[in-house]
Amino acid sequence: MTDAFTGDLVVCGIGELTTPGPGGGWDTRTYRNAYVVIEGGTVTEVGEGSPPDGDRVLDVDGRAVVPAFCDPHTHAVFGDWRAREFALRLRGADYKEILTEGGGILETVSATRASEEEELLDELLRHLDVMLSCGVLTCEVKSGYGLDRANEIKMLRVISRANSEHPVEVVPTFLGAHAVPPEWRGDPDGYIENVVLPLIDEVAGSGLAEFVDVFCEPGVFTVQQSRVVLEAAREAGLDGRIHADEMEAAGGTQLAADVGCASAEHLLAAPEDELRSLREAGVTPVLLPGTAFMLQKPYARARWMIDEGLDVALGTDFNPGSCPIIDIKLIMSLAAIQMSMTPAEVMVAVTRNAAQSLNRDDRGAIAPGLCGDLVVLDAPDHVHLIYRPGAPLVRQVIRGGVLVYDRYADGCIMRSV
Ligand SMILES: [Zn+2]
Repeated sequence: MTDAFTGDLVVCGIGELTTPGPGGGWDTRTYRNAYVVIEGGTVTEVGEGSPPDGDRVLDVDGRAVVPAFCDPHTHAVFGDWRAREFALRLRGADYKEILTEGGGILETVSATRASEEEELLDELLRHLDVMLSCGVLTCEVKSGYGLDRANEIKMLRVISRANSEHPVEVVPTFLGAHAVPPEWRGDPDGYIENVVLPLIDEVAGSGLAEFVDVFCEPGVFTVQQSRVVLEAAREAGLDGRIHADEMEAAGGTQLAADVGCASAEHLLAAPEDELRSLREAGVTPVLLPGTAFMLQKPYARARWMIDEGLDVALGTDFNPGSCPIIDIKLIMSLAAIQMSMTPAEVMVAVTRNAAQSLNRDDRGAIAPGLCGDLVVLDAPDHVHLIYRPGAPLVRQVIRGGVLVYDRYADGCIMRSV
């Protein structure tokens, strides 16, 4: 945490504070007429009744407070939007027709390769502003629209620079194995061998990435090719993530368990026995209901997974193609309404479980010893977040005891530069 976002603060007058509880799993804890004391960026006390004195006090006048949200899956650096393709899809165009019209992921690759680093940075900072206004303070961002050395490094540099300028902490993931670029068409093995594997060593050495992700789907990268990528990541000291079983069951979920990835994501078509092996291997399933919504596909089986004891997390999958939804609150509503998760489960999935999938055990709940990262809602309780999709219910966001977003203040977003 940078000093710009570290401070002392007493937040009081909290009508209802709901947070993942000390029991782990789906345990939650609710405090009424509550206060939170933050010192040096860290929560030191949470209680009910009269707060202790403090130099800086924020009285939230009976509003609800929850932990700041974490979005564990985004593709937030990209060269251009793909609204034309969306319009084609709405009138029934299939994947092949979209590709014929020049759409699809390779359109974003061309646009991203053609963009200057400064332009990409400027756009990313604006996306982070929107995420902050939705209560997100930690966000994973992937590369994967460069697909050659220079452009993948350019994307990761953009992510790294955004991190030092914005209160949202950005967790960088190298996704060189997102698609096979035009210059390696028909030779995915050659692309992995000559481009992806050397880049894994390079970004691990330079610290430009914390995770390595791979798009394991029939027609993109096979299970065997994905295994090569994830094992190379592990040897280089980076944890794996995987886009698995999004369109059909192809073995990606089992691979995540076998290799010991931090997360396996999408999982719309994942078989039950493979999902159970995620639980045994301690892999966090990250579900992305916004993508199913935008593509009008069936949703992942969150209810079944939770009943089987899996610690499900939720993310946006924000990207210019399949899911341009940036608002984690809308994802929360979809998860409750379309995937039968309870409001309390949804809250745990976008806080503690999402943070855990990013190896961030210093956040994701409001408790002594954890980061003082809170969201003040313009609502009396956390259920309103799900019950009123589309309403801008995030009133204030506090990072490490510092107010970094205030919906009603002039210049409501605080950047460090
Ligand atoms: Zn994705």
